[in-house]
Amino acid sequence: MAKYVYDFSEGNKDQKDLLGGKGANLAEMTRLGLPVPPGFIITTEACREYMTSGALPAEVRVEVTMALRRLEDAVGRSLGDFHDPLLVSVRSGAKFSMPGMMDTVLNIGLNDASVQGLAKFSDDERFAWDSYRRLIQMFGKTVLDIDGDKFAHALDAMKHVRGAAADTDLNAKDLEELVEQFKTIVRDETGREFPQHPREQLDLAITAVFNSWNTDRARLYRRRERIPNDLGTAVNVVTMVFGNLGSDSGTGVCFTRDPSTGMTGDYGDYLPNAQGEDVVAGIRNTLSLADFEKLDPTSFADLRQAMRRLETHYRDLCDIEFTVERGKLWMLQTRVGKRTAAAAFRIATQLVDEHLITLDEALERVTGAQLSKLMFPQFDSEAKRTLLATGMAASPGAAVGQVVFDSVTAQAWAAEGKAVILVRRETNPDDLGGMIAAVGVLTSRGGKTSHAAVVARGMGTTCVVGAEKLDVNVKAKEIKVGKRVIGEGEVIAIDGSTGDIFLGDVPVVPSPVVEYLEEGLEVALAHAADEDTRDLVEAVDRILTHADGVRRLRVHANADTAEDAHRARIWGAQGIGLCRTEHMFLGERRVLIERLILANEDAEREAALAALLPLQRADFIDILEQMDGLPTTIRLIDPPLHEFLPDLTEMSVKVALAAERGETGADVERDKVMLAAVQRMHEANPMLGLRGVRLGIVVPGLFALQIRAVAEAAAQRLRDGGKPHAEIMIPLAASVMELHLIRDEAEEILAEVSAAEGVELHIPIGAMIELPRAALTADRMAGVAEFFSFGTNDLTQTTWGFSRDDVESAFFPEYTERGVISVSPFETVDRSGVGRLVRIAVEEGRAARPDIVLGVCGEHGGDPESIHFFHEVGLDYVSCSPFRVPVARLEAGRASVSGLGSDTR
Ligand code: PEP
Ligand code: MG
Repeated sequence: MAKYVYDFSEGNKDQKDLLGGKGANLAEMTRLGLPVPPGFIITTEACREYMTSGALPAEVRVEVTMALRRLEDAVGRSLGDFHDPLLVSVRSGAKFSMPGMMDTVLNIGLNDASVQGLAKFSDDERFAWDSYRRLIQMFGKTVLDIDGDKFAHALDAMKHVRGAAADTDLNAKDLEELVEQFKTIVRDETGREFPQHPREQLDLAITAVFNSWNTDRARLYRRRERIPNDLGTAVNVVTMVFGNLGSDSGTGVCFTRDPSTGMTGDYGDYLPNAQGEDVVAGIRNTLSLADFEKLDPTSFADLRQAMRRLETHYRDLCDIEFTVERGKLWMLQTRVGKRTAAAAFRIATQLVDEHLITLDEALERVTGAQLSKLMFPQFDSEAKRTLLATGMAASPGAAVGQVVFDSVTAQAWAAEGKAVILVRRETNPDDLGGMIAAVGVLTSRGGKTSHAAVVARGMGTTCVVGAEKLDVNVKAKEIKVGKRVIGEGEVIAIDGSTGDIFLGDVPVVPSPVVEYLEEGLEVALAHAADEDTRDLVEAVDRILTHADGVRRLRVHANADTAEDAHRARIWGAQGIGLCRTEHMFLGERRVLIERLILANEDAEREAALAALLPLQRADFIDILEQMDGLPTTIRLIDPPLHEFLPDLTEMSVKVALAAERGETGADVERDKVMLAAVQRMHEANPMLGLRGVRLGIVVPGLFALQIRAVAEAAAQRLRDGGKPHAEIMIPLAASVMELHLIRDEAEEILAEVSAAEGVELHIPIGAMIELPRAALTADRMAGVAEFFSFGTNDLTQTTWGFSRDDVESAFFPEYTERGVISVSPFETVDRSGVGRLVRIAVEEGRAARPDIVLGVCGEHGGDPESIHFFHEVGLDYVSCSPFRVPVARLEAGRASVSGLGSDTR
């Protein structure tokens, strides 16, 4: 039978699936003997059952009773006791952290009687009544679904009547009166009394936390972070400890290393005399840990020790929430902390140097997405800039955009294609939509662990927080900085690595990591602006070099020009996996293709082909020269030929207008011929029409021209002392007969050129596998093709029957919303459908031709998750756009060592 409730002493950090991240880590800290307030965890399995059946399994209530009794025995107090009450918090905690997205209720167990007990226990009446009003407020909003403003307005009105500037100016009597008002709100809004029975409070809070898994904002967050909707959350029931019991109490958040730069040391914020939520909400500005040490050296020393213990135990950067209750430290949460891309690389290599992890593990601790973030440009420090203010650097990047003050405007403007920077005093979970839409987030309050900072860092959005010099007035839609007023729509630039905020546009310069990739380590180190940058470049070099050493997959690039080939090679490409030749027929050459298409007689067609041959040969000579010594896969022309002709509607209008105006002459006649050709070649579904190998079979001489150009280019390179490794790839074949026809033709041409040029040519001929039928008949295809390259763009299009040019914007958002897909299959390979076809073709292709070379050249070749699949399935290489080559090298390395490191999401 399932066990639904675990005491902290029963679990461990590896049980995140069942106990959620927070619960598993609370259990781990308990096992380590760190001071964790006692508590228990209701599992994610209970949540999943609750979600499917709509009710909590009966066993859950029984197990909660048993766990609660054990807890009461352990602390020697009873929940809601009149004299010495045990109070608990009820906190959400899913497998993956979803900061601020789900609910928490504090002070469960307080009622009209136990509030008196709390007053005695704490010797502080004001505190007791404040705790009670916080409970009713939080419970009313999250559990009973009452509009939170109702409580906030009552609180404001009370402050107004008493002439109190802050909540803290209200005394015990005021708060007792407020509790009565809050209870009236509950009665008026729900038609029932605020529940006095502690167990009823607990049960309602537990279901409320389960329900909060499915709020709109939680779903939106999960969609973005690709967290499956069916995981469910665990619930942690934890003994309350209070950070708001006076000046010897407080609460804080800290990191064992700097999460934005990766520097070693203690980083964090401390707020004396406050509850945990106050720090994360960023409502009051916090003290540094150094100030905390001065204030309470004993608690700080305990915290320091716990931090070191945790980092050594987890062998990674940990983030920690803690509370000090009357001089005693309590650990409320820890987890492997989120970090910026730069910090990820630097921390991973630091941990290697400290002998806590191996280089293999370091490789697993960084991601391709992080590497690509480091390849973004940064602000040009030489450019003239107007510094407005400096806040805290919370999430790196250089963002320039128009100021907006609310989430709705941010989303609307972003949808119009504008770059916006969301400016707020502080953010809360309701701002998530705006934060996603914005290129940058700026707040005037809060610290590095405020909501804005944590969420922005998680999303990789540039963020600056706590810019206190800015007076942000969201209602008036303006920022005041001294005398300067900045309104909605004005452009600012924010630097998430330094915290600087500039007025107007600021030019950007390339990243040091790109300089390293292009110019090599020595040059990048010599040019690095500071020690931090040098550290970063070295860390990237070490990890990427290691990835190159361990990966099995080769990385090729998709490059159509000599310039792209050059760039790809510099960035580490080991060949060209796809050279699309159609781009070579655009521009001035388009007329030659037109002539070919319009030709009525063989002689005309041959003349057009003859004119194309030297041009095409020159293209290939250039590319083969750039890729000397490396495989260069040249794909024969693929798109439907009408793409080279004028648009049907435009041509029809032109001819009709000429007829109406009675125009005559050679041009008019030519237009008529062109229109007829365009009409003849028009297709209802061109993607499924006359393209790829079908063109080669139907249009005489077209493929032959390209094959001859490749052969002659290779011969020329050989004569020039080069090492050309050209390969010819046939697109869109579905039948082995198609391959036979083209292969026979190609072999003839290759033999002819070999003989004519007096050189021996080895030019393998292979097939793109981009139609389901090709994959399903791979054994036969492999009899003719010397290599396969999976064209997963077309394979996805034809497997799903999704038009690759239309569906992503047309209805994928709704499909994602409704859970049909979690990510576009054009972005990440669909393992179970398209992936299965790839697997079949790999197995059957290899069985038929053991030395067959297998690669992928669809967009998926540069997608981290897909690269792991291609590694697993046993491909020889992935091919992607030049910019993604370093990312693919890193991910191919990660795929090789996968399963060693920790889960850092
Ligand atoms: C493919 O279909 O995956 C492919 C690489 O070819 P193209 O994108 O040019 O159709
Ligand atoms: Mg294709």
